[in-house]
Amino acid sequence: MTNRFRLVIIGGGVAGLALATRLGNTLGRSGRLEITLVDKGFSHVWKPMLHCFAAGTARNENDRITFVSHAAAHGFRFCYGEIAHLDRANRRITLAPLMEENNQLLLEERHLDYDAVVFAIGSRANDFGTPGVVEHCMFLDNVVEANHFNERFRHAIIQAYGRGTPVDIAIVGGGATGVQLAAELHKALDIGALYNFTPVTPEMRVTLLEAGPRILPAFPQNVSDAAQKQLEALNIAVRTNTMVSGADENGFILKDGSRVNAQFRVWAAGVKAPDVTRDMDGLDYQRGGQLTVQANLQSTVDEHVFAMGDCSFIKDAPVAPTAQVARQQAHHLARHLPGYIFNKKPVPDFHFRNRGAIVALGDYNGWGAFADGKTFGGGFLNGLSARLGHMALYRQHQFELHGPFRGAIACFTDWLDGFVRPSVRMD
Ligand SMILES: Cc1cc2nc3c(=O)[nH]c(=O)nc-3n(C[C@H](O)[C@H](O)[C@H](O)COP(=O)(O)OP(=O)(O)OC[C@H]3O[C@@H](n4cnc5c(N)ncnc54)[C@H](O)[C@@H]3O)c2cc1C
Repeated sequence: MTNRFRLVIIGGGVAGLALATRLGNTLGRSGRLEITLVDKGFSHVWKPMLHCFAAGTARNENDRITFVSHAAAHGFRFCYGEIAHLDRANRRITLAPLMEENNQLLLEERHLDYDAVVFAIGSRANDFGTPGVVEHCMFLDNVVEANHFNERFRHAIIQAYGRGTPVDIAIVGGGATGVQLAAELHKALDIGALYNFTPVTPEMRVTLLEAGPRILPAFPQNVSDAAQKQLEALNIAVRTNTMVSGADENGFILKDGSRVNAQFRVWAAGVKAPDVTRDMDGLDYQRGGQLTVQANLQSTVDEHVFAMGDCSFIKDAPVAPTAQVARQQAHHLARHLPGYIFNKKPVPDFHFRNRGAIVALGDYNGWGAFADGKTFGGGFLNGLSARLGHMALYRQHQFELHGPFRGAIACFTDWLDGFVRPSVRMD
């Protein structure tokens, strides 16, 4: 039996792992706080790289952080499992039973008691109930889906080389995920061509479908225009003002009754929280399932519950579901939870400091936009500054989690890896 304060963090993504690592390094290691990180996966990957894993232009074997060893090195405990229920009166979390692939029970449901719990379980694309999407589309919301996509993509490329037929891909969603995925798939084929499979590189036909009037709506108009021009130069068809009303095994059905046929159908539009948030013992949530929190990230209905990152919604001051927000919210709680835990001090309000946004179209181009609307990138260097900035965000994340020494080693081994492996995944 322990008297230490029990903090449970659910979800080891951008926000959850940053919080567990920061608090673990200080209060966990010194034994003052019992920190448990729960995740339904065994390892962390930097979600903004999922489209690179899907295209095979980065290998997630190199970029994963294994929770259990990271936890041991940073003063917290890792618990593998998926949250199923919350009992707020008894401050108890129930983890769903673990099943094997053949549906055999591996481990019964388990319980974890907490003094405070932080939800950081991220988000998924939102199909808004569009018929056929769940059955016939691929999603890119976690590493399992990205790896599955990559396997199917490699098989399609093999067929295309062997039969000389084109690969047809349609992506719904002209936000950063859809746009970056389209460019990254092109990059994968361009790199693959360098390995001289056959004298002729197969054709890849990518169509990007966006319901709104422009792609990259979170960026200024000039970035949207330049990105669309760049995609079209790569032979990617960009169709804006195009509403998808259904999907089947051959492609997408549009609202005007026409079709876009594609062997690969990807849904990368909309954002919603995992469905489980709708059944958390009366916690308030939004239409998209995001848990409603006050400006200090504390639940609107329970002072022992916090939520941050994509699965949260700040009442009266909503912020976009981005890695930048998730990271800043984790830092905010890492700074202020100790006062709440040990001195019963209220957690102050979180204020987002918008440092701008970056979008990178593979090696082809990239742009950044500052909070004041000023943009950079593009031009004769093909957006080198923005592309480097995009990469720097990932390196910053690695350094924060590993510390300077191991962070530098991680960067160095990634760089060395480039000398011994092909630049696109082939196996
Ligand atoms: C392809 C792609 C590209 C992107 N590019 C950018 C970009 O360039 N810049 C940017 O700022 N943002 C980008 N984003 C958005 C960014 O990745 C998210 O905003 C960010 O990851 C949110 O962090 P989070 O900690 O809230 O959730 P996540 O990082 O998604 O982590 C959630 C964690 O919770 C775990 N989990 C989920 N459900 C459960 C459960 N029931 N029980 C236990 N654990 C659970 C998951 O396994 C995961 O580890 C991109 C997203 C995608 C998909």
